Amino acid sequence: MPAATALAEPKSQLWDAIIVGAGFAGLHAAHALRQAGLSCLGFETAPDVGGVWHWNRYPGARCDVESMQYSYGFDETLQQEWVWRERFAPQPEILEYIRHVADRFGLRRHFRFATSVTAAEFDAAQATWLVRTDRGDAERARFLIMASGGLSVTRLPDIPGLGTFRGEVMHTGDWPTRPLSFAGKRVGVVGTGSSGIQAIPVIAEHAAQLTVFQRTPNFVIPARNRPLDEATQSAWKARYAEHRARARQVGTFYAFSDRSALEVSEAERQAEYDRRWAEGGVNFVHAFNDIYTSEDANRTAADYVRAKIRAIVRDPATAEALCPKDHPLGSKRICVASDYYETYNRPNVRLVDLRADPIEGIAPGGVRLASGEVPLDMLVFATGYDALTGALTRIAIRGRDGQLLSEKWKNGPVNYLGLMTAGFPNLFIVTGPGSPSVLVNMIVGIEQHIDWIVRCIGDMDAAGQATIEPEPQAERDWVQVVNEAAERTLFVKANSWYLGANIPGKPRVFMPYAGGIGPYRRICDEVAADGYRGFRLGARVRETA
Ligand code: FAD
Ligand code: NAP
Repeated sequence: MPAATALAEPKSQLWDAIIVGAGFAGLHAAHALRQAGLSCLGFETAPDVGGVWHWNRYPGARCDVESMQYSYGFDETLQQEWVWRERFAPQPEILEYIRHVADRFGLRRHFRFATSVTAAEFDAAQATWLVRTDRGDAERARFLIMASGGLSVTRLPDIPGLGTFRGEVMHTGDWPTRPLSFAGKRVGVVGTGSSGIQAIPVIAEHAAQLTVFQRTPNFVIPARNRPLDEATQSAWKARYAEHRARARQVGTFYAFSDRSALEVSEAERQAEYDRRWAEGGVNFVHAFNDIYTSEDANRTAADYVRAKIRAIVRDPATAEALCPKDHPLGSKRICVASDYYETYNRPNVRLVDLRADPIEGIAPGGVRLASGEVPLDMLVFATGYDALTGALTRIAIRGRDGQLLSEKWKNGPVNYLGLMTAGFPNLFIVTGPGSPSVLVNMIVGIEQHIDWIVRCIGDMDAAGQATIEPEPQAERDWVQVVNEAAERTLFVKANSWYLGANIPGKPRVFMPYAGGIGPYRRICDEVAADGYRGFRLGARVRETA
């Protein structure tokens, strides 16, 4: 046990809830709790609101769910008044939107910024959480809401000599707020996931020389980003309520198909892929209804993209290295970017295929490959995150009998509905493992979770209950449901961060629930309506001070 008792004791206030994080989830939690008449206090490591959109200021950062959908649906006036300028909003525009929401609903006052939660202990006698921060705060609440983000803990690979590099080192997920210039610089980018593929074309436009260090190529669909004209925006807004209602069932409002890729002729298939490729965005993967479930169907889409790569990239060896061959399309998060493959036709861009020429180390002047050193002035790591569990397990969260969450989850994030885990009463997790989270429009997932949590607290208060936690059997059953949902898809066929495969030593478990937000929402609602089936509710012990 940590020497928690030697630290400051909390002030007298008992909050209804403490929220960790001030991104989309934390802000919505604060708003919804206040609307329900509940008190709350939030902590946020960053100096301001924004979450992912505060941290990811890398060039080219933008959403890949269309802006009209990648926004809150909880307030009709907000969604009618806010004007999105681009089909896929860039990071500054999304941050501006989040700041607007914080101002509009007066949410900043509920948060302490530049403050990281380091520990949280459940006090069974009082049925409260005692939360401690790196600034010495010690606060108590009845409920603890982890809105700490599924992609908020960045990961730098352990490459020998990294500390010796003389130039600047950045991670896309912790990008400096000061202006950075690539002009005249020799820049290296390590990583070609969603972040890398967005940054690479923009850096290439400014840098003297860009070297991309690629370990695994990804399927990249053109974004076809464009300004959002008024007519499109007005038409969408006229039916916003209807669109949001549909998104609550499907996550993101894509043009889904009810045809199999294998039941149409070659010409029809090609025409459908052509149409969607020209339209741009993730809609491409919904061209047929079995791309995520049938390897044969998937291969038709993957072959199409590989043919595009070979047609776009002039140097055949580079084109071949860019062709993904070791995983089905979409089994790693599909990437969406502008001019990604075209960038490799620029004279100042070089692709290094690390499978053929691995990184041996980093030297003061650049990256040391098996074939020799690549001299660099700047090194950008687009190497991803300790996803879904990282932000939770790095806090010393102790439940009943002092059990550590990181210890409980050492073989995988066992939980019920992705919302709670046994032995940790009154600890709610937002869009974590076991929920649809990263497989859907995350704001839709966030709103569903927060609404469910606030309703749950209200129901408990009305019934005079003080604690809620899953029955161990209910969470064992849910883990099985999550595994079975994953097994029905091709997601399990790739070494992706969905499985924790990017973190050495992390248990290999497919973390998100792949059964869809609609079915998931129904399950959560039924559980609540059925007296919180699968949860153990505890009566109020006594009135707390
Ligand atoms: P976050 O935005 O990650 O916020 C969590 C906050 O918690 C962070 O600010 C963090 O500093 C804080 N925090 C964590 N631990 C602590 C602690 N111990 N103490 C105090 N504070 C803490 N999703 C989509 O659906 N569509 C997209 O187009 C899309 N684009 C993305 C682009 C990028 C570059 C990235 C990285 C992610 C993207 N996502 C997208 C996923 C994104 O994570 C979610 O859409 C959403 O922003 C998550 O919001 P959140 O509030 O849950 O988490
Ligand atoms: P990521 O998908 O995990 O990609 C990390 C990349 O770094 C991969 O190419 C990986 O290669 C590479 N890498 C990791 N360690 C390496 C090493 N030691 N040497 C060489 N290469 C290494 O991370 P991300 O790109 O930041 O994206 C994470 C998630 O954030 C996305 O999947 C998405 O959910 C979200 N996101 C969304 C958008 C958007 O378009 N809206 C933008 C950015 C991020 P391997 O594949 O071989 O491991």
